[in-house]
Amino acid sequence: MKSKSGIFKAVSKIFHILFLVIFYSFKMVGFLIKAFIHLLGLIKKGLEHNFRFSLTFRITIAYVFLFFTVFLLMSVGIIISFNYFIQDYPPEDYIFLLGTILLVFNLIGIIAIILIGSGVSRRLLAPIKSMTKTVQEISFNQLNRRLDVSGSKNELKDLAQTFNGMLDRIQESVEQQNRFISDASHELRTPISVIQGYANLLARWGKDDEKVLEESISALQSEAVNMNHLIEELLFLAREDSGTLKINKEDFRLCEVINEILQETNMIDSTHQFINEKNEEFTINADRKLLKEAVRIFMDNSIKYTPAGGSITLNCYRKNKKAIISVEDTGVGISKEDLLNIFTRFYRAEKSRTKEKGGTGLGLAIAKLIIDNHNGKINVWSEVNKGTIFRIELPS
Ligand code: ADP
Repeated sequence: MKSKSGIFKAVSKIFHILFLVIFYSFKMVGFLIKAFIHLLGLIKKGLEHNFRFSLTFRITIAYVFLFFTVFLLMSVGIIISFNYFIQDYPPEDYIFLLGTILLVFNLIGIIAIILIGSGVSRRLLAPIKSMTKTVQEISFNQLNRRLDVSGSKNELKDLAQTFNGMLDRIQESVEQQNRFISDASHELRTPISVIQGYANLLARWGKDDEKVLEESISALQSEAVNMNHLIEELLFLAREDSGTLKINKEDFRLCEVINEILQETNMIDSTHQFINEKNEEFTINADRKLLKEAVRIFMDNSIKYTPAGGSITLNCYRKNKKAIISVEDTGVGISKEDLLNIFTRFYRAEKSRTKEKGGTGLGLAIAKLIIDNHNGKINVWSEVNKGTIFRIELPS
């Protein structure tokens, strides 16, 4: 009795041990498979992070792997099936047996390749779907959205980065346009309220009071001139922004333009001394009208910002195959902080000071556009209360 229970115990122990061995072996195998898959994932991540795999390469590798696996399994299946059924068939039916097995396995193989292949393609091209969705969602009011570029390095990442770069530029330009519109509206509001004020004054007192009548008419005239000037400047900038600004280049003698400007400024301003030390004779290829406009902007500024009695020197010469035009004044000068911004649209240094001089803050922005359109350069040197030098360099 004792020995029977002893045998039973021994057998149950053996089974227990066997169960534990099988259980832990399975666990171990499962763990090893998991570890292997994890390791493969890490290698894939590391490779994708450090190397660039093109989409074509990925698709090729994925399909080579897929075909290889399917063909391997098919071959094994064909051999096993042929071996299994061979006893039931006489030798003259072997060809028929092999044909049937091949047909069945080929059909299974094709279905497997279609199913797995479409899944693989979908996975590889999934970023295109998500990119399309994001692009569809980006509207004019949502220009701050960007495509996700955190994925692996391939052509799609390049495309996403290029698209994001384009969005950066569009966003910047839209913001610039919005700023311009709001600044322009703000600038136009002032002369309109002045005109409204004087029109009201005229309506109320103008008929009886001669002094009010004269003052209002002269104020209205001057505001109309200011407004006309501002609108001309705005139109110029709008033409440049929309790409419709026409540059009509021709060959002409620059000294003639400089002489014309000197004559005109001498005629309209007798409070400053105009000096011309150099006006060399040479021909330049540029838009005569626009270039004259640019030089006039510098001259007008020198007149505006140089107290009466001061001098303004306009020179023109050639140096290192470059045409140089310099405008130098003995005026109020520009501080270092303002120098960084004077070419920005609507920027006025010390706003109160320049507004009473009728400045719009657009002159230098326009002059810079003209010079830029001629592949030229503008340099400025200035010292507060001493004067300013603007030097234009143009290819000649
Ligand atoms: P604005 O119409 O106000 O003159 P600009 O764009 O021509 O506008 O000039 C921008 C600012 O640069 C001016 O407001 C003025 O403060 C400064 N500036 C330009 N030229 C001179 C100069 N020759 N001397 C002193 N300040 C100048």
